[in-house]
Amino acid sequence: MAEKLSEKVAVVTGSARGIGKQIALTLARNGADIVISDIIDMEASAAEVKKLGRKAITVKADVTRKSDVERLFDTAVSSFGKVDILVNNAGVTRHARLLDLTEEDWDVVMAVNLKGSFLCTQAAAKHMIKRKSGKIINISSVAALSTKTHGGANYQCAKMAVAQLTRASARELGPYGITVNSIAPGFIVTEMTGVRRTREQVDKMAAENTSTTPLGRLGTPQDIANAILFFASDEASFVTGQLIAVDGGWA
Ligand code: NAD
Repeated sequence: MAEKLSEKVAVVTGSARGIGKQIALTLARNGADIVISDIIDMEASAAEVKKLGRKAITVKADVTRKSDVERLFDTAVSSFGKVDILVNNAGVTRHARLLDLTEEDWDVVMAVNLKGSFLCTQAAAKHMIKRKSGKIINISSVAALSTKTHGGANYQCAKMAVAQLTRASARELGPYGITVNSIAPGFIVTEMTGVRRTREQVDKMAAENTSTTPLGRLGTPQDIANAILFFASDEASFVTGQLIAVDGGWA
């Protein structure tokens, strides 16, 4: 049986670790060749993709810099001839209470989560429009759906805006055969959840989230990757502009 994503090429930003790495491996397991991109060392992710029998290249690129993003897509196209799938996964948190949020906390969270998704969407779309096909998937958050998350106003606003960027891009890019969808993951223990928190604080949050999640457990990177796989596959070819929470019913 043909694999779901055979002959497809996917760019996954922020795929050196965490949820992004699991997305890259899941797309590869389903037949896609992968462009791993991040600002930290990515060789472990690339090696694991290759172990699955798929091709992988790594491109160091900061999604907040237009020149890096253009180089990312130029390299992807010159290496593989095309880009079929973009997953805008790179993200950061800098949570603090509203009155303590610094201007820098605000700017960096907006830049990576929102501007980064915009720049990558624009660069990918310029290429996808020519081929009249493509799938773009943005990682929003349950922080876009609820103020009960611990993300902070900067992160909540950025992820809400990512959901609207998804809808706006879906409308404009639909006529070119490009779908744009987004996922709102619930709380998942990764390096991100440890930013500005002690191990005890993370454990307490994990216990709280487990007890307030109808399905009674925390999400995993694989739960998110499974939803990405749906949006990236032809089975989702008539679905665009959507935000799906993958949170066990938490929000
Ligand atoms: P993570 O910190 O483990 O991974 C984020 C990756 O993005 C890292 O590899 C990091 O180096 C990369 N990155 C950061 N800044 C970048 C930049 N400027 N350019 C390129 N890459 C950059 O976190 P994660 O939990 O795996 O998060 C992945 C995505 O999921 C993020 O968008 C995050 O906001 C979202 N998310 C996470 C959770 C959670 O509970 N972990 C919940 C909802 C949404």
